[in-house]
Amino acid sequence: MANKIDRVPVREQEPKVRATNFEEVCYGYNAEEALLEASRCLGCKNPRCVAACPVGIDIPGFIAEVYAGNFEGAYNVISKDSSLPAVCGRVCPQETQCEGSCILGIKGQSVSIGKLERFVADTHREGKKRKADSVESGATPKNSNGIKVAVIGSGPAGLACASDLAKLGYSVTIFESLHRPGGVLTYGIPEFRLPKKKVVEQEIGDLLQMGIKIETNVFVGRSVTIDELMDKEGFKAVFVGTGAGLPMFLNIAGENLNGVFSANEYLTRNNLMQAFEESSDTPIFRAKRVCVVGGGNVAMDAARTALRLGAEVTVVYRRSEKEMPARVEEVHHAKEEGVNFCMLTNPVEIIGNEQGWVKAIKCVKMELGEPDEGGRRRPVAVPGSEFEIPTDAVIVSLGTMINSLIADTTPGIATDKKGRLQTDAVCATSKAGVFAGGDVVTGAATVILAMGEGRKAAKAIDDYLNKR
Ligand SMILES: Cc1cc2nc3c(=O)[nH]c(=O)nc-3n(C[C@H](O)[C@H](O)[C@H](O)COP(=O)(O)OP(=O)(O)OC[C@H]3O[C@@H](n4cnc5c(N)ncnc54)[C@H](O)[C@@H]3O)c2cc1C
Ligand code: SF4
Repeated sequence: MANKIDRVPVREQEPKVRATNFEEVCYGYNAEEALLEASRCLGCKNPRCVAACPVGIDIPGFIAEVYAGNFEGAYNVISKDSSLPAVCGRVCPQETQCEGSCILGIKGQSVSIGKLERFVADTHREGKKRKADSVESGATPKNSNGIKVAVIGSGPAGLACASDLAKLGYSVTIFESLHRPGGVLTYGIPEFRLPKKKVVEQEIGDLLQMGIKIETNVFVGRSVTIDELMDKEGFKAVFVGTGAGLPMFLNIAGENLNGVFSANEYLTRNNLMQAFEESSDTPIFRAKRVCVVGGGNVAMDAARTALRLGAEVTVVYRRSEKEMPARVEEVHHAKEEGVNFCMLTNPVEIIGNEQGWVKAIKCVKMELGEPDEGGRRRPVAVPGSEFEIPTDAVIVSLGTMINSLIADTTPGIATDKKGRLQTDAVCATSKAGVFAGGDVVTGAATVILAMGEGRKAAKAIDDYLNKR
């Protein structure tokens, strides 16, 4: 079915318009565009795209269904391996995974697999016309075996694990410390990249209809411990998918000034607590000028959120653009919207005014030296190159760590030096019956990797419980 047409471009909101609102940037394909894009796939016998997908979706299989106009059939193919296709179609780093390996990409443009996945998932959802607020939990699974399994954390790892366990007939309860489920999908990634009511809540709603229960506002380690869940509440196995949500800081002078945020706090307050609204109980400080320190996806999200709140935004990053860990698409979108980039620059001090508010950030210029252990060239400060960038707020986005609460309150569970839970090849921890996956094991990674781990753990939990 292949021909030589170029990749079908996707429609997006105009940069100047979208920089002033929180609506989704990308409109996605319509049916006509999806059919045309699907016609580009060669349907390879040994598809490189599938080998590069962390959950092994049958990509040529679903694209063939799209090409045949059988969109629901395409959805069925995807949902065999992915429990959150509308989410993954939007936020997966396809350029380094399936699309990065697509054979068409060698001499031209790869198939737009992510946008097709998104089209299929959106078409399925719109066809069902379910109410946006349909997140309810607790229906009894049809094939229930009555065995209770606890899942701690409702991010992609926990949701994927819970969904596979529910399909196998287990009675699954997810315990979530926040008041809304979804993990980073809900509190981290902003609305303009991943709509909450339209996409996240609907996909979680689909999972809950499989009979999974969710108990929110339960902070495991404080409200209840893993031992109590297993010894007193009858859970036969536990999956820990608590993520890596503890922010890292610069550890420089001035970091305690008013107007300094971690990206985690800034995004959570906006996404989860609607702090951008003046009527919010805890409205966020609307700075005129904002400096965001860091070069990852989280930094891009914080910068583009600050822009939408009316600030002039500068991203300060200590390496060059080539080394930025953020997705190319996110950097491109940020630039189009008017975010400024100050590369090869490292903050050394945050300077405050007499009232204790940020007024500038002092930086040094950097140059790239020898590669570090990870292969990226190490940034080295240029002597005597200090300069100041006037700013009213600083958002620190240097990555995240693991909260030690689970490890501290669960005797017998082993961690590595960075506090990540240690697991074997099938996601089992050192404590019998306790499994783990996602960012709490790998450190900050991606949605699809977390989902892959959750699915692997579900299979291992099933094997473990069958052997007992
Ligand atoms: C702002 C931002 C943007 C990102 N953008 C992308 C992107 O574009 N593409 C991509 O692939 N990845 C992206 N990521 C990374 C991705 O979101 C994570 O890798 C993924 O969400 C990890 O999933 P998880 O299930 O392991 O953890 P999380 O999503 O962090 O979920 C963990 C959940 O556990 C809960 N929890 C923690 N401790 C407890 C406890 N003790 N008791 C009960 N509940 C607890 C938390 O509240 C949370 O809901 C981004 C991350 C951030 C922060
Ligand atoms: S590698 Fe590209 S062309 Fe081949 S099946 Fe996958 S998406 Fe289609």
